[in-house]
Amino acid sequence: MILKKKKNLVFLSFFIILLPLFFLHFQIGFSYGVAESVAEKNVLILESYHRGHPWTDAQENAIFDELEKSDLNIVTFIEEMDWKRYPDKQNLSQLHERFQYKYMNMPIDLIMTTDDAALQFALDHRVELFSNAPIVFSGVLKKDADRILEGKINVTGTYEQMNSEGTVQFAKKVFPDLKYVYLLHDLSDSGVSTGELMKNGVCDASDDLVVRDLSNLSLNDILKLVPNFSMDSIILVASYNFDADNHYLAIDQSVKKLSEKSSVPVFTLDEAAFGTGALGGDLNSGLLHGKTAAELGLRILVGESANQIPISEKKPACWSFDYDQMKRFHVELDELPNDAVVIHKSVSYYEQNKTIILSNIAVLIALILFIIYLLTSIRYRKKIEVMLKEQKDKIYHLAYYSPVTDLPNRVFLRETLETYIAADPKHEKKFALVYIDIDNFKEINDTFGHSVGDQVLLYFAERLKKAHNLQNNNSLDSLDVFSLGGDEFIMLFYDTDKQKMDVISKDMVCTITEPFVLEDNIFYMEVSGGIVFYPDHGTTYSELLKNSDTAMYRSKEAGKGIFTYFNQSMSDDAFKKNAMQSNLRLSIERGDFVVYYQPQMDAKTWSISGFEALIRWNSPEFGFVQPLSFMKIAEESRLIIPIGEWVLETACSFMKRIHREFSSKYIISVNISVIQLLQEDFVDMVMDTLKKTGISPQSLELEITETVFLNSSKMAVDTLERLKQTGVKVALDDFGTGYSSLSYLSQLPISTLKIDKAFISSLFDSNKNMVLTNSIIRMGHELGLELVIEGVETDEQKELFTLMGCDRIQGYLVGKPAPDFEVFASLNEMKGKKRL
Ligand code: C2E
Ligand code: MG
Ligand code: MG
Repeated sequence: MILKKKKNLVFLSFFIILLPLFFLHFQIGFSYGVAESVAEKNVLILESYHRGHPWTDAQENAIFDELEKSDLNIVTFIEEMDWKRYPDKQNLSQLHERFQYKYMNMPIDLIMTTDDAALQFALDHRVELFSNAPIVFSGVLKKDADRILEGKINVTGTYEQMNSEGTVQFAKKVFPDLKYVYLLHDLSDSGVSTGELMKNGVCDASDDLVVRDLSNLSLNDILKLVPNFSMDSIILVASYNFDADNHYLAIDQSVKKLSEKSSVPVFTLDEAAFGTGALGGDLNSGLLHGKTAAELGLRILVGESANQIPISEKKPACWSFDYDQMKRFHVELDELPNDAVVIHKSVSYYEQNKTIILSNIAVLIALILFIIYLLTSIRYRKKIEVMLKEQKDKIYHLAYYSPVTDLPNRVFLRETLETYIAADPKHEKKFALVYIDIDNFKEINDTFGHSVGDQVLLYFAERLKKAHNLQNNNSLDSLDVFSLGGDEFIMLFYDTDKQKMDVISKDMVCTITEPFVLEDNIFYMEVSGGIVFYPDHGTTYSELLKNSDTAMYRSKEAGKGIFTYFNQSMSDDAFKKNAMQSNLRLSIERGDFVVYYQPQMDAKTWSISGFEALIRWNSPEFGFVQPLSFMKIAEESRLIIPIGEWVLETACSFMKRIHREFSSKYIISVNISVIQLLQEDFVDMVMDTLKKTGISPQSLELEITETVFLNSSKMAVDTLERLKQTGVKVALDDFGTGYSSLSYLSQLPISTLKIDKAFISSLFDSNKNMVLTNSIIRMGHELGLELVIEGVETDEQKELFTLMGCDRIQGYLVGKPAPDFEVFASLNEMKGKKRL
C-alpha cells in the first residue's frame, strides 16, 4: 500500500517537471515556425541629403522606428545622396555605380525616399537597381511631387506641406500692426520652391502685407540688416541650408544668429529651425512625415499594392512655440492655437511633480479626514461614555438614594450594615442605630399637602445631617444618615455606648426640634426615636432595624417626643403584639368576640336609661382579653373596621331585643374608633345597621374620644355633623384625660360629655378639683350637652355627682359590664320586682 503511494508520488513529480518542459519546447518550436514562415523584407531608405541634416535625420529616425515596431522581419538599407552639397551629375553617376554594385544580387521589397532628389532617382533607376520595388516618398511638396510622379505607377507617399499662410495669419493675429514679412530660404531647387510657397502663403494670409525676400543676401549682410527692421515686421525662415554666398550653415544655427540680432520675431515652418531663437510657427515635422511614410510602407510590405494606396494628405506639421521668445515679444499663452507645443517654458515645481504633489495632497486630505473621523468618533465615544456614566450614576442614585430627601435609602443602609457586619465576624465592634420617626407627620401632609410635606422632609433631612455632623465633630459624614421612606430615618453612630448616646440623643432632639419657617408657616416638629446597639441588640440588619422600630414605637406609646433604648422585653411584647394581630384576624372569622353591656342610670329618676356596649375577646390563644389590651393592635392593623361594625350591629340587635321585651326608652352607647370614623361610608354603614336591626337613630349614642379631633378634625367633624342630623347622639368619651379643652367643645357636633373615671379619683384630693368638675358640668349644661360620669363605684361619688347635676351615672355601683343574657336576666328580675 505504502509502495503504491510512493509510486504515485514519483509519477506526479515526474509529470510536474515534464509539463513546463513540454510547454517550453512547444513555445520554441512555435517561435521557430514563425521565424521560418516570415520571409525577410528588404527595405531601402534613400535619402536626398546627408546624415546630420536635421530634416533628413528626423524623417529617417521616424521611418526606422516605425519599421522596427512591426512584427515583420525587416532588413533596412540606408543610402544618402548628399544632394544638398553635391547636386551634380557626377554624384548621380557615382551613386548609380555604387548601388548597382551593392544591390545587384539584393532584392529590394520597398524603397522609401526622403525629399525630391531621392524620389526622382528611385523612379529613374528602380528597374535596373532596386528590383523595380514600390516606392513610398516623403518630404516632397505637392506641386513638385505631382510633377515628378507624372505617369508613374507603383508609388505612393506623403506630401510635405508648408503652412506659411496659417503661420502668417497667426503672426498677424498676435502682432496686429504687422506689415512686412521678410522671407529667408536657400537657393537650392527645393529652397526656391519653398520660397515661392512661402510667398504665396503670405499673400493668401493678408492682402496688406509686404513680402521682402532676403535669400539673395549673404547671411552676414542679413545679420547687419535685421537689427534695423521696423517693429511691424517679422522674418519667416524655411529650408535655409546655405546662404547666397554658398556658405553652408545648419538652419538652427542661422536662425539662432538671426534671432539674436533681430529686433523682430523670427517665425519658421521648419522643425529643424526651431528651438534656437525662432518664436514658432506651424512647423513641418520630419518625424511626423517619416512616421506617416513608414505606415504606408508597412501596408505595402504586408501585401497591399502601392497603386491602391492614395498619397497621404495628412498634415505633417505641428504648432510649436518657444516660451523664451514669446516672453520677449509679449505673446501670451492663451493666444496660441489649442494644440500648440510650447518649449522652454520653465515648469514650476508643482508642474514637475504634479502627480506626486497631488497624490500627496490626496493622501494628506485622506489622512486629515481620517484624523477628523477618529477625533469625532473619539469625542462621540467619550460623549457616549459620559452619558452612560451619567445614566449609570442616575440609576445608582435612584437605587440608593431617596428621591425626596436625597439621603441614602434603605438599600444603601442594608448594604452598609451588611458590609460592616461581614467585616466583623466576631462582633467586636460596636455602633448605635437610631430609628427616628417624625411625630404627627400625617397632619402636615393632610393640612398642607404632599408637596409641602416633601419640602418639610427635605428640610428635616438637612437638620438630621447637621445634627449628626455636630455629634461627629463636624466630620460631614452624612452617609451615616439614611432615609427609610416617608417620615422615617436612621442614624448610625460608630464606637459609641449608652452614656454617649444619652448625650447625643438629648442634643439631637434640641437641634431637630427647633421650629422652622416654610412658606409662611411655622413648623414645630417633634420626633420619636428608638435606639439599638450592635451587637447587643442584634447582629443582622433585619434584627437591628426591627428592634429599633420596636423601641421607637415605645416612644410613641409613651407620648411621643422622646428616644427609647431597646430591651429584650420589648421584643417579647412586640412578638406578642404580632401574634395577637394574626389571631385577631382569625377570631373575626371564628366569631370569638362577645359584647358586654354596662348599664347607665338616669341620675334624676335613678332608673336604667341605657347601656354602653364594651367588647371582650374570648381568645382560645390568649384567654379572655379586655379591650384595652387589643384595641390598639386592632386599630394599627385596621381590623377595628370589621370588628367595630360587628359590635355596632350586635349592640343594636341587643337594643332591639331590649326594646321589644322591656321598653324602647333605653339607649345603647357604642364606642367608635377614629379609624372607623374616617371611613368614607361610615354614616351609610351606621344608617344601614339601624335599618337592619330596626332601632331608631335616637336610641343610638356613638362614643368618640378627643383624638378624633386632634388627628383629622375637619373630616371627623363633618361626619359627626351628618350623624347628629340623623338623630344619632354623639358622646365625647373620656373627657379630662387628654387635652380637655373646654373652649372647642362648643364648636363640636356632640350631644353628650362623658367625664372620665380618672376625674373621680382626683376629685376628692382637693377642693380645687371639685370646683373644676362642678364648673365643667355647669358649662357643659350651658352648651346644651348631657353630662355622663363614668367609673362611679361608691354611693358617696354617686351622691356628689347627682348633686352637681350629672344627667347619667355609669360605674360598678350601677353595674359591671355583663353579657347580654345577664342583662336580660337582671332586667327581667327588675321587671318582676316591679310587678310585685
Ligand atoms: P370606655 O369607653 O371609657 O369604657 C369604660 C371603661 O371603664 C370600661 O372598660 C369599663 O369596664 C370601665 N369601667 C366602668 N365602670 C367602672 C368603674 O366603676 N370602675 C373602673 N375601674 N372601671 C369601670 P373596658 O370595658 O375595659 O373598656 C375599656 C375601653 O375600651 C373603653 O373605655 C373603650 O374606650 C374601649 N372599648 C371597649 N369596647 C369598645 C368597642 O367596642 N369599640 C371601641 N372602639 N372601643 C371599645
Ligand atoms: Mg366609652
Ligand atoms: Mg370612657
